[in-house]
Amino acid sequence: AKSRGRNGYQFYSPAMDGEGVERLRMEALLRRAIERNEIFLHYQPQVEIDSGKLIGVEALVRWHNPELGHVSPVRFIPMAEDTGFINQIGEWVLFEACRQMLRWDEAGLQVPKMAVNLSVRQVERGAMAPLVEQALAATGLAPRRLQLEVTESVIMNTGDALAFVHALHAIGVGLAIDDFGTGYSSLAYLKQLPVDVLKIDRSFIKDIALDSNDEAIAIAIIQLGKSMNLSVIAEGVENEEQAAFLLRHGCARAQGYLYGRPVAPEELLETWGSRKHE
Ligand code: C2E
Ligand code: CA
Ligand code: CA
Ligand code: CA
Repeated sequence: AKSRGRNGYQFYSPAMDGEGVERLRMEALLRRAIERNEIFLHYQPQVEIDSGKLIGVEALVRWHNPELGHVSPVRFIPMAEDTGFINQIGEWVLFEACRQMLRWDEAGLQVPKMAVNLSVRQVERGAMAPLVEQALAATGLAPRRLQLEVTESVIMNTGDALAFVHALHAIGVGLAIDDFGTGYSSLAYLKQLPVDVLKIDRSFIKDIALDSNDEAIAIAIIQLGKSMNLSVIAEGVENEEQAAFLLRHGCARAQGYLYGRPVAPEELLETWGSRKHE
């Protein structure tokens, strides 16, 4: 891109230009990604630590483009948020995730809960609750089987968050606070909201057993959840030490590579469908 110089001259920087062009190209490709069937979902199991039972899955969006290859959501979600295209992606994700629950039902795998991530842009727009109702009506999925994940900043920085959260509660859909502990939630504010789940951010789980600060934070979140009567789930659990620590401190639920990576729906069915009589 060209940047405006001191006297209004346009300075031309080849390095920046390369980046800018690359970004524009990616944005253009992203805009067509849904209609070209390049967007799809992977699902990561959420389990009860002691029994290993499947309690739900989280839908994680994927983009494969013939020219770009696989693009991480860490890259394209912020881009989609900037362009506003996140609303189309988010809508597609919500409907597809609900449809997938019914496909598993029919195939004999009862996944108790589907967690879907919402971006701040979707909530800000104000039309989220009706969209959720539409997705449920269109698929016939029971509201209690759907859980929406938002970060603390969505709750704290969206004017309409209170109305949105109450609307979700009225519909009967669950709400999880994602990446909990990394934002700036006011606990007093949180207490007024009908939130169901706190998800302990992966960054606090990573160095458990090595870093006493992270341990203290994880324990504090578990205690907080208990005292507020919320369910707590830890994300990013990769080894048995972390799982044992969580269980020892009263966190019964987890998600992470130890239990399964995000996978295609057929693979989830293969892995978990056969375990249903255990
Ligand atoms: P998130 O919501 O915090 O999702 C968890 C991320 O951690 C996922 O990365 C998941 O693959 C990864 N993960 C899970 N278990 C482990 C583990 O044991 N170790 C490590 N190192 N990583 C683990 P992913 O799929 O790349 O997604 C990144 C982020 O992109 C998500 O973070 C979320 O913020 C965003 N995202 C993904 N799908 C959607 C979507 O459908 N809508 C919106 N708005 N955002 C999405
Ligand atoms: Ca999430
Ligand atoms: Ca998270
Ligand atoms: Ca995260």
